[in-house]
Amino acid sequence: MNRKDLELPTFLCGTVLEVSRRFIKILAPSNHIITGIVSSKNLEVVVGDIATFEERDGDIFVTSIASSERGLYRSVHGKLKKMGSNIDRLLVITASGPTFNPVVIDRMLAAARARSIPASLVINKIDLGLAGLEEMVSVYRRIGLPVLLCSAKKGEGIAELRAILEAPEVAIVSLCGVSGVGKSTLLNSLVPGAKSRTGDLSTKTGQGKQTTTQPRGHLYTGAPGLTKVIVDLPGVQFFGLSHLSHEEARLAFQEMIEVAGGCRFGDCKHVKEPECAVKAAVVRGDIATWRYESYLQILEEIAEFKQF
Ligand code: GDP
Ligand code: ZN
Repeated sequence: MNRKDLELPTFLCGTVLEVSRRFIKILAPSNHIITGIVSSKNLEVVVGDIATFEERDGDIFVTSIASSERGLYRSVHGKLKKMGSNIDRLLVITASGPTFNPVVIDRMLAAARARSIPASLVINKIDLGLAGLEEMVSVYRRIGLPVLLCSAKKGEGIAELRAILEAPEVAIVSLCGVSGVGKSTLLNSLVPGAKSRTGDLSTKTGQGKQTTTQPRGHLYTGAPGLTKVIVDLPGVQFFGLSHLSHEEARLAFQEMIEVAGGCRFGDCKHVKEPECAVKAAVVRGDIATWRYESYLQILEEIAEFKQF
């Protein structure tokens, strides 16, 4: 039975693609992009939200935002910052070479896991080889994380990225990564011209350099009639997680969950507790030391924040 048969009132709603002060760009169900004005200062809007809007005297006013799921958050100086809503898949972008940083990767994965956002790791610049990263890649694969190897430069692995975007259960995919990993180049391979677009709502930074500091949704069109949203999240060097609970931090490390049943205490944090099965697994080499260190760093940050 469709909406007409049920005689439900028709209302206008769409997916938020871009937010700048009180103006937002919305993808309407007709696939048109419209610019709206947020009618109340109290209405918090982020990319990926579903906005309800109405037309008044030729202007579009956003009147409400539907409650969202799968929001990606990070902490900035102890303040919670929502980066996006309704994310069906997070692609953590990294690259072969010096920008490969497991501490940052683990933090992004933890933020996704805390909100039940399925994540994949994308290692770009594979044309440079995987020198030294094989062990880390196999650890990530062992914990069940999908790892895609690609080269935006050579066009390798792009078909696999398209397959993720075109999966029927996926409407919004977010790209997250530190700058320099080739995120813009990858995005351009999927949405030609995405990063050279002009006339957007980007803001000026204090240094007077024109950079996009806000998340932005781009339209990916695959097969005829198929439109998906790719949210380009700004490149951050530090992904703060002070808002996570200990429980959320623990749950982000799959290999720890698998052995934690052997810890003496049911609520073991795997730090100072005696008879800790996780620490024993680290000593045996069954859990990678660098993964355990990522976990400890997150706990330290949570503890530091709690002191204020
Ligand atoms: P972003 O800061 O993550 O958006 O990175 P950019 O897309 O601006 O790329 C950073 C640098 O990496 C540029 O010099 C790109 O030409 C280069 N780059 C991007 N993709 C690849 C790739 O697949 N292989 C290699 N070797 N270089 C790449
Ligand atoms: Zn333990």
